[in-house]
Amino acid sequence: MKIVLQNLTKTFPSRNKKGETVVAVSDLDFEIPDGKLIGLLGPSGCGKSTTLYMICGLQKPTSGKIFFGDSDVTGLEPEHRGVGLVFQNYALYPHLTVRQNILFPLQNLKGPDKLSKEEMLSRATEAARLVQIDELMERKPSELSGGQQQRVAIARALVKAPRVLLLDEPLSNLDARLRLQTREEIKRIQRETGVTTVFVTHDQEEAMSISDMIVVMKEGVVQQIGEPQRVYDDPENLFVAKFLGTPPINVFDASVTGGFLCVGGDRLFEMPGEADREVVVGIRPEGFVPAGDGVIGGKLVNIEVMGRDCSVVFSNPACQKPTVRAIVDSDVRIAAGADAPVRFNLKKNKVFVFDRTTERRIMF
Ligand code: ADP
Ligand code: MG
Repeated sequence: MKIVLQNLTKTFPSRNKKGETVVAVSDLDFEIPDGKLIGLLGPSGCGKSTTLYMICGLQKPTSGKIFFGDSDVTGLEPEHRGVGLVFQNYALYPHLTVRQNILFPLQNLKGPDKLSKEEMLSRATEAARLVQIDELMERKPSELSGGQQQRVAIARALVKAPRVLLLDEPLSNLDARLRLQTREEIKRIQRETGVTTVFVTHDQEEAMSISDMIVVMKEGVVQQIGEPQRVYDDPENLFVAKFLGTPPINVFDASVTGGFLCVGGDRLFEMPGEADREVVVGIRPEGFVPAGDGVIGGKLVNIEVMGRDCSVVFSNPACQKPTVRAIVDSDVRIAAGADAPVRFNLKKNKVFVFDRTTERRIMF
């Protein structure tokens, strides 16, 4: 089921000042393709949950429209939208078994949707099998691990064969290992069912790893939409460049001077035809190539060896943080003590230039 968000805005009355409003989501206008997994990504408070709740109908937009396929569902009650919803805190019924929890949404179906007992049981078993908890059907939620509880919640959301699956930070309560495992499971389940899925997270790595497409949001406004790798490789503004990637991009105060991109006293690249001005430069950690006569450098702080590659941590006064982190092949030997000068050449496709005021990307 394709989902279309059309000029979607949601405001709330301000909690602090009477009469004032908080804009939670502003003018969302994009399409979620049928059968894809979309990662809705951004820092806490940027409007992700509000967007999700408008898609499922728990919240009404202040203005704008929502379409499922060609039909306008903006005024439709949640129970008539055919959406499955999974929250961060599984929200299972503690006194019911796994089987009863999964059956629950089916038992409430009325009229023509009503199912026979056999059909309900067979649907529940199928959903349980899909999320691989079919051996745990007689247990109570308290007898399950966090990961298993979240699987039950996903099975419960899938049992009605929803047109759309909505997941709000579904992995946040799991420990690191389970988080990794469960996110792969979600990807598998989504592939197997082909259900259009919106996955909300503040964790860029999580969103990047499982999404067909990511939507990066900041303060209620969409910043960029695209395939994860594409957005990483081609950020449209400084916020997106900084939000994606671990370790994060290194950001420097820089300038265009006489047709060159300059950081401190170093000339990085030619920028022919660009007027002189103050800019900001972002360099991905993997963009540095050690070279004695390289275009940029600093004073070595330390080298962290991490097996396959190593981090060269150095200081550069133009960097907006105390240290710069370069990730280089661990075969490269940088034999130097603390405070020794280190220099690097740059991979041009890993260097982004932004306007200092608007923070928009300047192509060169
Ligand atoms: P996210 O899920 O990205 O963390 P939310 O969608 O929950 O963000 O919230 C977006 C903004 O809207 C926040 O500033 C939040 O405080 C505000 N907000 C969300 N729900 C309400 C509400 N029911 N009443 C007032 N403000 C709200
Ligand atoms: Mg939220």
